[in-house]
Amino acid sequence: MKKKKIRVSKTSKIILVLLVVLGFIAYGAKKVYDEYQYKKTYEYKLTEKGYSLKEAENILKLFSNKRVDYILSLNKNENIYKLAEEKYYIDSKLEEYLAFLEENEELTLTDVITLVNVNRHHEFYEKDIETTDKSNTMIVNKYYVLKDDYVPDNLAIIPTTHSWGAYGENQATADTVNAFMNMAQAAATEGINLMVNSSYRDYADQDRVYKLYEDSYGKEYADNIAARPGHSEHQSGYALDIFSTDSTSQKTFAESNAYAWLKQNCYKYGFIIRYPEGKENITGFNFESWHYRYVGVEIATYIQENDITYDEYYAYYLQK
Ligand SMILES: [Zn+2]
Repeated sequence: MKKKKIRVSKTSKIILVLLVVLGFIAYGAKKVYDEYQYKKTYEYKLTEKGYSLKEAENILKLFSNKRVDYILSLNKNENIYKLAEEKYYIDSKLEEYLAFLEENEELTLTDVITLVNVNRHHEFYEKDIETTDKSNTMIVNKYYVLKDDYVPDNLAIIPTTHSWGAYGENQATADTVNAFMNMAQAAATEGINLMVNSSYRDYADQDRVYKLYEDSYGKEYADNIAARPGHSEHQSGYALDIFSTDSTSQKTFAESNAYAWLKQNCYKYGFIIRYPEGKENITGFNFESWHYRYVGVEIATYIQENDITYDEYYAYYLQK
């Protein structure tokens, strides 16, 4: 049998070779192009900075592009994304967190967040920020200050059944008085007779209180127990010093039934313990078992459940 030879023309061969070569070139070009594109990605740039792929992924998930650009301008720093994973992280404060952490390496990241959020990277009274919110969410502390002529426009009198002093002496904003009277009635059903000892104080009153302590014991002592004028919550009209007919001393009120009841129940009426035990470095005040602040039920409940101070709450939920 005669075998039929398959003949491939010369032209076909050339075309075939050309196609193969072109294929290779296209493949190579695509690879180079892909690589070029990849090198433009944040993922690549982050891995070049020393972050692992997983860390890079994490950073891209946590931060805006603008923030990633900032992160790329710094040396590799694992704290950056660990800070962002913290519950109360505020992105606009990242630079301040990092600077504060560098000066205070012994602090946990949670502490860094807490302290910077409440301005503790500045000394108390170092910078005054005017309080502009006049509602029951206003903040007054050693950074936030009320003007000397600020007087709440809705002051009401606390009935003498639950207030010491001459009639009309104790005043607070109407919503504070209303909430307090509801709370006092509830406490009374359990045999506790709540009494307001001090409430709204104007700027001049606070000036007298502060100077009294300062003259007797010096500035440092005075700062721990009294606010400087303009920085007192009592000027806001939303703060009450509460005792009971059974317990009338600042020294022992924390051991009283009335305090135990308030600690457990005051949030239900919109009040919080404003200067809690163990939070002195945040609030700037020694523990005050008698000082209550009206913030409304919703905020008070959050603060009770999450065991944070109003300063922290304000920074994260209101100021941010
Ligand atoms: Zn007070």
